[in-house]
Amino acid sequence: MSSKNTAIIIGGGISGKLAARVLSNHYKEVIILERDQEQVGPYPRKGAPQGEHLHALLHAGESGLEELFPGITEHFYHSGAIKINSTIDLAWFHHGAWKVRYDGGYSTTLQTRPHLEWHVEQYIKRIPNVVFYYNQVVQDLLYNEEQNQIIGVQLKDESFKADLVVDASGVSSLSSTWFRKQGFGITEEKVEINLSYVSKQFELSEDQDRDWKIKMVYPKPPQEKMGGTISKVEGNRYIVTLIGYHNSVNDKEVLKDNSGFIEMVKKLPRLDIYQEIENATPLTKTSLYRIPNIIWRRYDKVENLPNGLVVIGDTVCRIDPVFGQGMSIAILEALALQKLLQKHKGELHKVPVAFHKKAAKIISPIWNMVITEDLRYPATKGKKPFGLSIQQWYAKNIFLLSSQNQEVYNSFVKVMNLVRPITSLMKPSIIKSVLIFAFSNSRKS
Ligand SMILES: Cc1cc2nc3c(=O)[nH]c(=O)nc-3n(C[C@H](O)[C@H](O)[C@H](O)COP(=O)(O)OP(=O)(O)OC[C@H]3O[C@@H](n4cnc5c(N)ncnc54)[C@H](O)[C@@H]3O)c2cc1C
Repeated sequence: MSSKNTAIIIGGGISGKLAARVLSNHYKEVIILERDQEQVGPYPRKGAPQGEHLHALLHAGESGLEELFPGITEHFYHSGAIKINSTIDLAWFHHGAWKVRYDGGYSTTLQTRPHLEWHVEQYIKRIPNVVFYYNQVVQDLLYNEEQNQIIGVQLKDESFKADLVVDASGVSSLSSTWFRKQGFGITEEKVEINLSYVSKQFELSEDQDRDWKIKMVYPKPPQEKMGGTISKVEGNRYIVTLIGYHNSVNDKEVLKDNSGFIEMVKKLPRLDIYQEIENATPLTKTSLYRIPNIIWRRYDKVENLPNGLVVIGDTVCRIDPVFGQGMSIAILEALALQKLLQKHKGELHKVPVAFHKKAAKIISPIWNMVITEDLRYPATKGKKPFGLSIQQWYAKNIFLLSSQNQEVYNSFVKVMNLVRPITSLMKPSIIKSVLIFAFSNSRKS
């Protein structure tokens, strides 16, 4: 197929769909090539197996999604997603203490990942110049070496020419293999966490009053490695997701049967989730997903990056999912791409390099925040950031203070939800609260 102002997207997951949305305003034709078959409803699919596990959408992600697809949040609610008050309906046990519960005036939407993604797909299908081709596995990039230009993609039996190729194929990443094969140096930051996710859905009895819609029990590192969350989702169901760092989950035991799963829930730092589900009805099989490492591929640092290629979403960075940031990063990247496409209208060849630099700016503070936490486990392998122990000390005091100080928790919620920079936790009043808190704790011990 020849190109005529065409953009091709490899992978129709969240990032691929978001990229299609913003590219459709600038390219005559946008083609999404997805290896999965077409979805018939909001159900988990083979190409995105993480969809069986709890997926939280942070405030930055939710407002970004609404900007890209006006009205989508209401659509979520119409088909059963749950609107909660972010700081009243969330019960969060973190570093050994429950967060303060108060009305901060923000809301969060609880739903499964397939429900969210399916709605996004319905919006995309209404854009006239976007076409979805399912059951298509892209095998290679087509490259004009003389012009250092990506000119399309190769499938098993056919090829597609394009003016722009977007790689949104996820962490397995077609581009990184291709870059290596072509001899481009690509730096990878990698942190080994050996994390397991285990999930199952339940029906809970209706005749019990609950003062939460989502309850999270996080492990207190380095001693505790396992944590869990129970969350209401569409269809009056509850999803229970357990996590275990550094191979602390016994896969065989937990997958054995329902009692294997319940036994793991019993091992969490608190019995709260166990007490909710010990007599509940299981609705699904137990699903397991392993994340041996998190990875950030530095396309922003590649010298002489080929023209005509944008790499987006998990293909660039897979972050530790425990902090619920992956989809929001993809949304922030799509918004950044949209801005750059508008800025460079008429000279779209300038977009890829500018985009990779912008994506790195989005990822960098999030990456640092996440590895600061992951490196609390001595078994975590990866490059330690400068000033790690002081950052960990400060963050831990913020976590503990947010169980009693509303101002601190309020600022922390905004940082966690990616709507404020981490530096907002360093304003004088918060530093003062941290120092007083730490000093009084040190006198007690
Ligand atoms: C266990 C787990 C829990 C998570 N929890 C959260 C959470 O709570 N909140 C949050 O925001 N994020 C969470 N994430 C992260 C989130 O799932 C990812 O950030 C997000 O899915 C990234 O989307 P993507 O489109 O970049 O990649 P993917 O979702 O991986 O999509 C890639 C797509 O490309 C297709 N594809 C791959 N190769 C090819 C090919 N060669 N040809 C054609 N198509 C191809 C695949 O079929 C797939 O559809 C979690 C991740 C995991 C693993």
